[in-house]
Amino acid sequence: VDRNVLADMRKLIEDFPSFAKKYRLIKRIGEGWFHKPSQPPGQWANHTSIGTFSTVYKAEDKLYDYYNNDWKDQIEATKWTPPPVRRRHNHPSSPRRPNRYVAIKKIYVTSSPSRIFNELDLLNDLRNCPSVCPLITAFRHTDQVIAVLPYFRHSDFRSYFRDMTIPDIAIYLRSLFTALKSCHEHHILHRDIKPTNFLYDPSTQHGVLVDFGLAEREGTETKPCLCHEGRPMRRARQVNSVWAQTSNGQNQPGYPKNDTRPSKRANRAGTRGFRAPEVLFKCTEQTTAIDIWSAGVILLTILSKRFPFFNSADDVEAMIEIATIFGSRRMKAAGLLHGCVFETTIPTVGTQGFSLEKIILWSTCRNEDKPLTTEEKMAVSFLERCMELDPSRRITAEEALQHEFLKMHDP
Ligand code: ADP
Ligand code: MG
Repeated sequence: VDRNVLADMRKLIEDFPSFAKKYRLIKRIGEGWFHKPSQPPGQWANHTSIGTFSTVYKAEDKLYDYYNNDWKDQIEATKWTPPPVRRRHNHPSSPRRPNRYVAIKKIYVTSSPSRIFNELDLLNDLRNCPSVCPLITAFRHTDQVIAVLPYFRHSDFRSYFRDMTIPDIAIYLRSLFTALKSCHEHHILHRDIKPTNFLYDPSTQHGVLVDFGLAEREGTETKPCLCHEGRPMRRARQVNSVWAQTSNGQNQPGYPKNDTRPSKRANRAGTRGFRAPEVLFKCTEQTTAIDIWSAGVILLTILSKRFPFFNSADDVEAMIEIATIFGSRRMKAAGLLHGCVFETTIPTVGTQGFSLEKIILWSTCRNEDKPLTTEEKMAVSFLERCMELDPSRRITAEEALQHEFLKMHDP
């Protein structure tokens, strides 16, 4: 056992004596940011959320009673089934009360305490939502905050995604989109949809969405973005003016990296490789559609059997990866929606791009004589709807649940 982990656990118990009475810490789960393997930061940072830090432990609730607790309804609402009750019959003091595990999330104060409040506040709003991890309680000691969540048994995505059948994928996504529908109905953007934040147990086929550390309410801190201008004519005029601005000598047209115009400051929190094009184009009026794109990246990962599918080190590289698939023409159009000029001279980025079907056939090394099955085609057409470059045309979570692919094996 890592000494740092033990020291952290001891500190936690010292700082929260009331907590220690109720819970018994078992082990650390998830990846704490300061315990990452000693690789150069760039290597793991690609798949780490930017802007949030926490450590999660598994613990046992010593006083828990399944049949007599006040958050039973909340647990039931997630459609999660508690593990079967195991009684130690042969022990004289055999407690009838089964073990009850919780996840203890210690949230670090990074940017501001309001971030922590935000996470707890949103979780509180989302209680009773199917497939969203409920919040049991939270403790604070000076500047430290811990959130107590029911423990969900889950497997590492990398251990099962290559073996998923099309019906498995549909069931997985139905669970994920059920969670997204609840969030989006509450006008909450999760902002960090990726496999490690969706805890899935392939044996029970249940999943819960966790980690609202980067989540935000729709419409906070927004400045108008061109993509929200209604009529196309008006939109075209405004884009032209941006063009003029970029080519009049103040700014060279080029990658948005060089774009220093003050209006282009937007929330870019999330995980590289899962960020929607509008996030990369620094749209200032991001909507819940960003989560749908990320869910699409998960589906693309599963279908192509490649994780991580996108492996960029920065935003510009991420745009190039997306442009390689969709083609520079569509990528340019996508940028213009947000008043952003996308120019590229990278030879691998063609104008036309490729169909997602082609990308999947290539990544799984299938040649032309083994085309996609009808079911696989259905999955790809669903994927196309999730990975629309224009957020206003992307499928919504509610529509997704009505899509033939997700309804395919609906019991
Ligand atoms: P972070 O902000 O550090 O990413 P998360 O909330 O995503 O924090 O939790 C990190 C990891 O801890 C998750 O990927 C998961 O493995 C584990 N974890 C979090 N919540 C739970 C839970 N309720 N049950 C089981 N494991 C959990
Ligand atoms: Mg996380």
